Amino acid sequence: MPATSPPTVRMKQPPFPADSAATTIVPGTAARDTATRLDRPKPTPARRRRWRGCMVGGAVGDALGAPVEFKSLDEMRAELGPGGVHGYLPAFGRYGAITDDTQMAMFTAEGLLRAYACSAVTGTVDVPSVVGHAYLRWLHTQRESATIAPALDGWLVREKALFASRVPGVTVIDALRARTSFGERPRNTSKGCGGAMRVAPVGLWCARLDEGMSPDRIAKHAFELGADTAALTHGHPTGQLAAGYVAALVALLALELPLHDALGRATAILVRRPGHAETMAAVEHARKLAAAGEPRAEFVARLGEGWVAEEAVAIAVYCTLAAADFDAGVRLAVNHDGDSDSTGAIAGNLLGTLHGIESIPTRFTNGLELVEVLAGLADDLATFPAWPIGQFQPATDASAWWLDRYPPH
Ligand SMILES: [Mg+2]
Repeated sequence: MPATSPPTVRMKQPPFPADSAATTIVPGTAARDTATRLDRPKPTPARRRRWRGCMVGGAVGDALGAPVEFKSLDEMRAELGPGGVHGYLPAFGRYGAITDDTQMAMFTAEGLLRAYACSAVTGTVDVPSVVGHAYLRWLHTQRESATIAPALDGWLVREKALFASRVPGVTVIDALRARTSFGERPRNTSKGCGGAMRVAPVGLWCARLDEGMSPDRIAKHAFELGADTAALTHGHPTGQLAAGYVAALVALLALELPLHDALGRATAILVRRPGHAETMAAVEHARKLAAAGEPRAEFVARLGEGWVAEEAVAIAVYCTLAAADFDAGVRLAVNHDGDSDSTGAIAGNLLGTLHGIESIPTRFTNGLELVEVLAGLADDLATFPAWPIGQFQPATDASAWWLDRYPPH
């Protein structure tokens, strides 16, 4: 054997670095999707780019931050140069690995779509309970169980790659394990960022469900539902309101409002909620820093480390405001001492919704774990009101397919 034989490659290699200006539309799910033979509604191009941008963008930020969640900025700069993290590094045995943040965002999306199926078929639904039920399917993927057993049906829980432990938050695991009903509130006072990091699909869902209503009404619905889904695991008002704020922002950006307008409207909703002071102060600080000049890691550090919800959301808002594009924004959001995967995930959600899927460089979409599943969920969140299901709809192959994909409970 020649002395120069290459070493054994254990991890998937990252894709060849592409020009950061290159763009892509993430491939669809058609190859593995039997429903394309049925009348599967297609998202409009305008929705597809923002909905996929949100779901895929969040996962990109999560995957960029995952390897450095527990590293300081000084350590990152010493290892990687003054720019710190700028591409995927190995984590969990591969490049482009997502964490619990994205896993739970996917189950948030699944729960919301099943809630819609439930209301379409039965005429009634308690949305947070159905989302709470979905979180118990996620708990099952973590090989944990609650007092109450979830229904292990629908397509998402059949995705084998989701059965992977990616350092999930203790608060969330404990709150879900103690569950005796699907909609039960936890007995904790946590304001960790676990509610905000998974909430973006609520904004997309409300933007589609309430289409035709005013942006402010849609954002208010997203805010309230986002806070209610965070309340499934986090007992502190700030953990809930910061999540509501993100959901409202995503809804407004999905509706194509300009960023500053969206921030103003989301803030106007926040200020009317009791217990808003902490979240409001953090978000206002982010807006002031963004107005103070060029994006800087030192400004991110002034906002905190992102372990608690108001800091994580403030960092995401700062990066979205300060950065010129998606690439710069998510890098800014993960290069700090704190909870890099969660701040990356929330910033990625906001930046992806704002700039669209085509703004995400191919070096991030290529090799991203579960990217096709994320794109599929985004498309379902963009089309669900057009599904052929409902109390007064005939049972067809297409309706059976949708109700198997998203069983109405
Ligand atoms: Mg995580």
